[in-house]
Amino acid sequence: MRVFKTIESLRAEILGLRRDGHQISLVPTMGYLHEGHLSLVRRCPESKVFASIFVNPLQFNDKKDFEAYPTDVDRDLGLLKQEGVCGVFIPHTEEIYPRGEVSRVSVPGLSDVLEGAFRPGHFEGVTTVVAKLFNIFEPDYAAFGEKDFQQLRIVEKLVTDLRYRVKIVRGPLVREESGLAMSSRNARLSCEGRSIASSLSKALFMAKDAAKRGASTSDNLRALVSDYLSKVRGIELEYVEVVTESDLSPTKEIGSGSRILAAIWVEGVRLIDNTPL
Ligand code: AMP
Repeated sequence: MRVFKTIESLRAEILGLRRDGHQISLVPTMGYLHEGHLSLVRRCPESKVFASIFVNPLQFNDKKDFEAYPTDVDRDLGLLKQEGVCGVFIPHTEEIYPRGEVSRVSVPGLSDVLEGAFRPGHFEGVTTVVAKLFNIFEPDYAAFGEKDFQQLRIVEKLVTDLRYRVKIVRGPLVREESGLAMSSRNARLSCEGRSIASSLSKALFMAKDAAKRGASTSDNLRALVSDYLSKVRGIELEYVEVVTESDLSPTKEIGSGSRILAAIWVEGVRLIDNTPL
């Protein structure tokens, strides 16, 4: 497994692999890897799989969150090697954002709701860096997790609209045994904080069960989740919404393409989760 710090060296490697007839997959990450990330590596079709590790400053609307983002590159490299990853791109910030660069890529509409409403500029940061990574790797496949469902839909829209050749591979959300959605940010929680945070998945699964039993409107489900979480000490609910998966618009009646998504704060850490209904 080779580590690349420059676009030039990475492109040379990819060119060689393509000449030998290989396809290329990309798994973009911000590092501090867990099973959720590794599951994306495993989902890539037959190809040479590359990962990128880049804590993208442009997508952090909260400076403190950026500064507190956990990193452990040596551990990450060990995990990726075990998964048989072919190469890892770990650029310096200036390699992605050279001095004087100003160009931005945005996906209005999908980026303005849910997470976008609470994290101004976040998705423009995501789509700008993803567009850059697609231009650098020109991958055949790129894997994104349903953990960040809105991000996944925005990237799919980006690919359609900007006519990227890449095929997006969706990875199901991977959870801890407690139900807590795996996230690099979980590392910032205490033991108790993790246990408190796992209430979010419990609430979402309760809503899912209620929807399965029928007769539930999205207002009922949202009330169910917020009532449940209001009784858990140490959680602050930021939002809970039921949307249509394709365009992320609010749903009234629950159908097969409905998904419930929520964001909470625990111990000063912002966490998200979602599940299909
Ligand atoms: P991140 O490092 O948080 O930017 O995540 C990199 C990729 O891993 C994104 O496509 C995420 O959606 C995905 N991912 C993160 N956590 C999980 C999880 N628990 N299950 C599935 N995918 C995940």
